[in-house]
Formats: sequence, C-alpha cells, structure tokens
Amino acid sequence: MSTLRLEIVTPEHKVYEKDVNMVVVKGISGELGILPDHIPLVTPLKVAPVKVKIGNTHESIAVHGGFMEVRKDKVVILADAAELGADIDVSRARLAKERAERRLAQRQAEISAIRAELALQRAIARLETVEKQE
Ligand code: ATP
Repeated sequence: MSTLRLEIVTPEHKVYEKDVNMVVVKGISGELGILPDHIPLVTPLKVAPVKVKIGNTHESIAVHGGFMEVRKDKVVILADAAELGADIDVSRARLAKERAERRLAQRQAEISAIRAELALQRAIARLETVEKQE
C-alpha cells in the first residue's frame, strides 16, 4: 500500500511525523480524505480530530485549527496546538468543557462567549480524539 508523509507541527514542537496510508481532516468546507498522490492544496482546518490510517490501524490527533498543505507525497499540518490521543489529559479536557459550557450559559459579553465557544470546541476535539483512540 502506498504511503504519504504526515507532519503535524505547532509553534512549540513537531507533534507527529509518520508515513501513513490516509489522512482525514475537517477542512472549513467539510471533511477531506487525503490519499498518496492527491492534488496539491492548502486549506484552513477546523478544531477537530485528524484521523490517520496506517495499514489496519487508526490513530487520532487533536488538531486545534491551523492549515493543511498537501503536496504530492507529503501533508503538513501547521496548528496552533495539537495533541496525540495518549498525551491528552481527559480530566483537564472535561473540566475545560464544563467551564466553557457554564460561561456560555451565563450569557456574558459577546467576546467572552466567543472565547468560551472556542474553548468548548478545543475540549470537545480532545475528548473525541481520546474516544476514537480507544
Ligand atoms: P485549558 O483551559 O485546560 O488550559 P485550553 O483549551 O485553553 O485548555 P490551549 O490554550 O488550547 O488550552 O492549550 C495550551 C497548552 O496546553 C497547549 O500546549 C495544549 O497542547 C495543552 N493542553 C490543553 N489542554 C490539554 C489537555 N486536556 N491535555 C493535554 N494537553 C492539553
């Protein structure tokens, strides 16, 4: 089975680098499955798990926004933050989710609501990444 190189990089470090068979991301206009030899493209990403297929195994990485660049045999994701399923602190993500939901329910000023909504999306992406990993 042919492969492509996937790199996921944040301003802090390289989170992921492997040869994989398929990458599935949530771009701003929908879900995209990338196979080797895909046409080149650049797209902004939503806050969501990135799913990877390697042989018969699947891996998930929480990717918090950023961009994906697809080249012939390489996909580079530049994200604000990203975590491997194994590195996600589930209780921290649950607490962050509850905190964000509480703030949204309190109907604060619009700017706080936007921040809470973004925090909620990050927490949900982390929890979904861990669920997909199990
Ligand atoms: P929190 O409110 O718990 O800090 P957050 O969504 O505001 O969550 P971020 O600003 O997205 O956190 O991330 C700050 C740093 O902490 C990043 O390096 C990110 O990878 C890491 N991080 C945040 N939440 C978790 C988590 N649940 N498990 C592992 N790492 C996390």
